[in-house]
Amino acid sequence: MGRAAAGGRPRAGGRGRGGRGAAVGARAGGRAGGGASAPRQVDVLVLGGGPVGSEVALACAMLGKQVAVAEPRGLLLGAPTGWVSKALRQLGRDHGAPNGTRRVEWEKAEEYLARTAGRALKLTANRFSDAALLAGAEWHSPQVFKGQARFTGAHSALVEGEGEETLVDFVHAFIAVGSASFRIPSLPWGEPEAAGWLFDGDTIKDIGSVPQKLVVQGGGTIATEYAFIFRALGADVTVVMRESRVMEGCGMDRAVQDAVIARMRRVGIEVREGTGDFAEVHPPVGGFNFGTLRGGAASIADAPVGADFGQVVLKASGEVLECDALLSATGRVGLAGGVDTDAAGCVPTVRGCAPVDGTTMECLGQDTGHIYAVGDCEDGSLVTPQGLLSTGLAEAYIATHAAFTDEMEARAGQMALYDTECPVAVWVEPTVSFVGMTTEGAEDTFGPEGCGSVKVFFSETIKGCVERAEPYGRDEFYKIIYRISDESDNGRILGVHVYGSGASEMIHNAATLVNSNATVWEVCRTVPPAVTVQDVLKMACVRAAIDISARGKGPRPAQALAGDATAEVRAKLLNRNAPRQTE
Ligand SMILES: Cc1cc2nc3c(=O)[nH]c(=O)nc-3n(C[C@H](O)[C@H](O)[C@H](O)COP(=O)(O)OP(=O)(O)OC[C@H]3O[C@@H](n4cnc5c(N)ncnc54)[C@H](O)[C@@H]3O)c2cc1C
Repeated sequence: MGRAAAGGRPRAGGRGRGGRGAAVGARAGGRAGGGASAPRQVDVLVLGGGPVGSEVALACAMLGKQVAVAEPRGLLLGAPTGWVSKALRQLGRDHGAPNGTRRVEWEKAEEYLARTAGRALKLTANRFSDAALLAGAEWHSPQVFKGQARFTGAHSALVEGEGEETLVDFVHAFIAVGSASFRIPSLPWGEPEAAGWLFDGDTIKDIGSVPQKLVVQGGGTIATEYAFIFRALGADVTVVMRESRVMEGCGMDRAVQDAVIARMRRVGIEVREGTGDFAEVHPPVGGFNFGTLRGGAASIADAPVGADFGQVVLKASGEVLECDALLSATGRVGLAGGVDTDAAGCVPTVRGCAPVDGTTMECLGQDTGHIYAVGDCEDGSLVTPQGLLSTGLAEAYIATHAAFTDEMEARAGQMALYDTECPVAVWVEPTVSFVGMTTEGAEDTFGPEGCGSVKVFFSETIKGCVERAEPYGRDEFYKIIYRISDESDNGRILGVHVYGSGASEMIHNAATLVNSNATVWEVCRTVPPAVTVQDVLKMACVRAAIDISARGKGPRPAQALAGDATAEVRAKLLNRNAPRQTE
């Protein structure tokens, strides 16, 4: 597909320009009371002002483009849809206890949510002001049109807000409308008795109180994160999931998945693998239910435990679980289906996601080379894993680059580049981060002899010795996967997987190593900042170097190792499930 000079469309004229540095979030006028006024002409229309749409808007504005963003909220928010869970997680950390021994009042949650939203909006506005300064005279502040957008043609869209409609003619469009929770149709969504009892990953923020017994259906990142959150807020939590491991299929190493599930059990979360399907679901009927309580009655202590809870019946075992709240978090669907992509000539959406050319993010279809889909609402990106924020941000840059290759390259010094292997951070308890290959992926690609892996526990570092106390911390680790070969890629770092406090802070550095084809030998020569948990990286590379040497492939011949006990050396160092003794 062509990269589209947009079918001879004129460049956007001066009309409707935001002034340089004008505040992001300023409302562009449409005509009130129905009928749309003359179309606005812009270079770029971004559909959706979430974090990925905001990133596209910012990148295009830095290139001097006139950008309009359609967003129902009327403001750009550079924070993920997951910011809600992050705020609640912080609440649990500040006021709850990891193993559920302290119940947190929900009023505090409202405070945390409001405060975080306010900060995120301000932070987004600050980013745009910084970008305006960096871009200089070329900058045009993006205009935000409040409302839902939908295409009306290959170069036109309608933004429908409350009593306002704005027609926008664009040269390029970027669809960044994100996703919504998938709702299993057989659950009683919308039934009055399920209100205040049945939630999805988007509505859980409206729960209004911490339940006594929460059943979480699903084993993905959102289900796992909320299981930890509600446990920390004081609920009894049972997770029922189809899979045998949490967070399957998102590129996470098995060692990390196993550590997460072990931690869930340690804090008292009941995890039932292979049980994700319900045979029956009975919301609370009559009498007391938590929906009523949330409506303002009494206090949680007045709840007659077990009396009027709803029930779910597990299909696999027939077992009945009682709960005063059910969170069904079984994946997400894209929202691109709601923007009439067919009117722009795009092929139909798949699970609400717009099919794209994975190398450019251009939508597939007839003459659609000027329309791109990025973030949670695209299908076909080569950046993985999908559905996470850093992936969406990388796609934002790929698409902007595809649309404005020459301009972007001319300003390379000012523009962010995306990594080939995208670093990912997932906020469960504590955090997971990873970049590059898993052990299983490396073994599939290179064979078991063509790669190796090693884990270093945080508690093995000097900082870990000082700081970490039982029972938390001893399961937190840094794992690297490396190449073993007779070629120049011997020792190359193929992947890094971290589970532990601050894991998300470590992975950018690791991504740089993976993307620059760095080897363990290079890291062995570095000096980590003392005293930090970052020591794990060097320790892991030292052990990897020993492993590779022990296999006769490293710069040092195998026989140079003390005692030449290669098998013994490797057994001592590699893939242990507990830290080495430090006492
Ligand atoms: C509970 C939870 C936890 C998460 N945790 C993590 C994590 O730990 N790490 C991680 O990397 N990712 C995480 N994610 C995923 C991350 O939040 C998403 O990948 C990211 O928000 C996607 O950004 P986006 O801009 O594509 O979509 P969204 O954030 O969904 O934004 C889309 C925007 O489009 C707007 N919109 C929708 N329809 C229209 C329309 N018709 N016209 C105009 N605008 C429209 C919406 O109002 C919204 O503002 C989590 C997600 C959830 C739900």
